Amino acid sequence: MESFNERLNLALNLIKEAKRITAFTGAGISTESGIPDFRSPGGIWDRYRIVTFQEFLTSNSARKEYWAMKRDLFREIESAKPNRAHLALAELEKIGKLNCLITQNIDGLHQEGGNSSDIIIELHGTNRRANCLECGKTWPIEDIQARLEKGDLDPRCDVCNGFIKPATVSFGQAMPVEDMLRAFQCAATCDLFLMIGSSLQVEPAASIPREAHRAGAKLIFINRTETPLDFIATVVFRENASDVLDELVKLLKQSA
Ligand SMILES: [Zn+2]
Repeated sequence: MESFNERLNLALNLIKEAKRITAFTGAGISTESGIPDFRSPGGIWDRYRIVTFQEFLTSNSARKEYWAMKRDLFREIESAKPNRAHLALAELEKIGKLNCLITQNIDGLHQEGGNSSDIIIELHGTNRRANCLECGKTWPIEDIQARLEKGDLDPRCDVCNGFIKPATVSFGQAMPVEDMLRAFQCAATCDLFLMIGSSLQVEPAASIPREAHRAGAKLIFINRTETPLDFIATVVFRENASDVLDELVKLLKQSA
């Protein structure tokens, strides 16, 4: 592997030459914001089992279990703020170097960091809102958290008494078709693909960078650990996402 500076320069040139950049982010971009990766040990997922969407719909006790987990999770993450990696992606968009931002994260930190909702595709939905599964009424998650904290662990819609659920894609729930199509289109039409903080272990996530590669894009990977697709990337960083992106944006602005 080339030195950090050599790889920074390679990446910088790729970004400068690119006409259309798509970024793709996973849990790794948010760990520095204090959002636990559900795969990491010691976290909330060790204390709670995964409740599938089917169980949520059919079992009162499973639904209460689900909401107890969410209540604890919201307590853990309510103070999370975008980190330098999120801010750098917002800066990239501002200087016209980011066309599409696909994320597997449900923390809403890209919006909070300053990227516009128009370019963000949330493949797994968002934890920032909750919807009624019957009538579609929407609440900010803070409203529902307030009800959970008061002991209402099976919150129902005040209009139709339907089940309320965070606007995330749960286990056993289908990925939103339209968002998936848009993500693949963003991968197929970019000339540079920036992958940040995903181990690319699960499908369909892993097939998105593969699609960019197939369509002829160059790829930059920034992830703490090896991924099964490192061989398709032109430049691979194992450094902190915030350090790499911060430095890249700084260099970009200096050379502009
Ligand atoms: Zn309703």
